[in-house]
Amino acid sequence: MSAGAGDPFETVIGLEVHAQLLTRSKMYCGCSADYTDSPPNTAICPVCLGLPGALPVLNEAAIQSAISTGLALSCEIPAFNKLDRKNYVYPDLPKGYQISQYDLPLCVGGHLTFESGGELRTAGITRVHVEEDTGRLVHRQGDHGEDISLVDLNRSGVPLMEIVGEPDLRSPEEARDYLAALRQILRYIGASSGNMEEGAFRCDANISTRATDGSVVGAKVEVKNMNSFRAVERALRYEEQRQRDVLAGGGTVPQETRGWVEDRGVTVSQRTKEQAHDYRYFPEPDLPPLAVTSEMVEPLGVSLPELPLARRDRFVEAFGLPAADAALLTSEREIADLFEEIVGANPEPGAARRAANWIVNDVMGLQRQRGLPSETLPFSAAQLRDLVSAVEEGEITARAAKELLPQIKPDEMPRDAAARLNLLSLNDAGTVRTAIDETLAAFPEAVADYRRGKKAAIGRLIGETIKRTGGRARPDDVRARLEEALAEA
Ligand SMILES: [Zn+2]
Repeated sequence: MSAGAGDPFETVIGLEVHAQLLTRSKMYCGCSADYTDSPPNTAICPVCLGLPGALPVLNEAAIQSAISTGLALSCEIPAFNKLDRKNYVYPDLPKGYQISQYDLPLCVGGHLTFESGGELRTAGITRVHVEEDTGRLVHRQGDHGEDISLVDLNRSGVPLMEIVGEPDLRSPEEARDYLAALRQILRYIGASSGNMEEGAFRCDANISTRATDGSVVGAKVEVKNMNSFRAVERALRYEEQRQRDVLAGGGTVPQETRGWVEDRGVTVSQRTKEQAHDYRYFPEPDLPPLAVTSEMVEPLGVSLPELPLARRDRFVEAFGLPAADAALLTSEREIADLFEEIVGANPEPGAARRAANWIVNDVMGLQRQRGLPSETLPFSAAQLRDLVSAVEEGEITARAAKELLPQIKPDEMPRDAAARLNLLSLNDAGTVRTAIDETLAAFPEAVADYRRGKKAAIGRLIGETIKRTGGRARPDDVRARLEEALAEA
């Protein structure tokens, strides 16, 4: 549900995203940031364990990646920023504080343009700052059935950036679309994998409800524990309705933090404003403030790739593609690169459209069927170029190509595969002629219709003839020969 004309309430949503930065090492030490395959508590050192006397060293690649993110979101990069200690006590945080950024973040004041409901929307970006991840708690049952909690510190110190958005979103759908666009940009610039299931891309939301006539304003509610795009949309839709029901009933919405409970489809109160943390932020004494020079920022700006929306629009403009196809082809940078490699710089528009059609429908269909990652197509650019040109030149019919596609071996050229599978176009006039004769004999009504002037009847005859050649006869060739045969008798 989103606010429309006559709606007495308006929904206000702002998102806070934590994204794991794709760096080799952790934020303040040399441990590997790729901890997923390591046994618990092995990808650690005195720094990320928070042992007394261990000193942090800032990861330059993480800072560069976060600045690139800020630039992609049109943020300002202030010349001066610093790191701060955020103090709280929890078993997954061995130091008793997290090194984060408080009043002087790395990037400020940007925006994100995204598409939602077929329209372009722009939402403000408040800030982008860097921080470190915490360890993980694993809850399980012990040998005697007792509940135990184990601490795994492999994730402790992994570089994160927090991207705080302005409360500019007006519906759960818009929040989902904003989130998807942000994730796509982070993947395009290589700042983060954006993998939500693995926890490399996490989102908390602030949502409030106000009357459109200004008579009632609900407090801001923070929603946590949403672990997928679908969960974000569902949780916000639930929360939107809950707040509206409370306000419509004359109640008040208190400021609080609520957790999304996926299997019950509800949010539940976790803590109220009175229990809110006081983090006692103060400047991190072990790391000097960071001066960001233009020598550092400018090369990062220059090396930013063309971003998804711009690339989509260019695909529509330059290749004459339908917007929906262009959006699919630019969904991942790798696929957009592959498409441009296949069609070249100045393709004939019809050829580019047909190639796009192949990739979007058949190749991406096979990609889904095979469960490949969203950025990986089942074929190389060379294979796809061979296939597209073979179809363009009539060596393989479109119909035969569909049959061929799933049978192409890794590294096998489609033309070779077609030869192996006897799927190359039929250029043997005798075989086509035999198929035509059989078809004419089998469908006398269509033949009579055609001769009475109902020329569309030839479509059926073409289709039936092609079927009799196992899809290998070329439609243009069959049409010409059929027209000839029908004129003869
Ligand atoms: Zn370490």
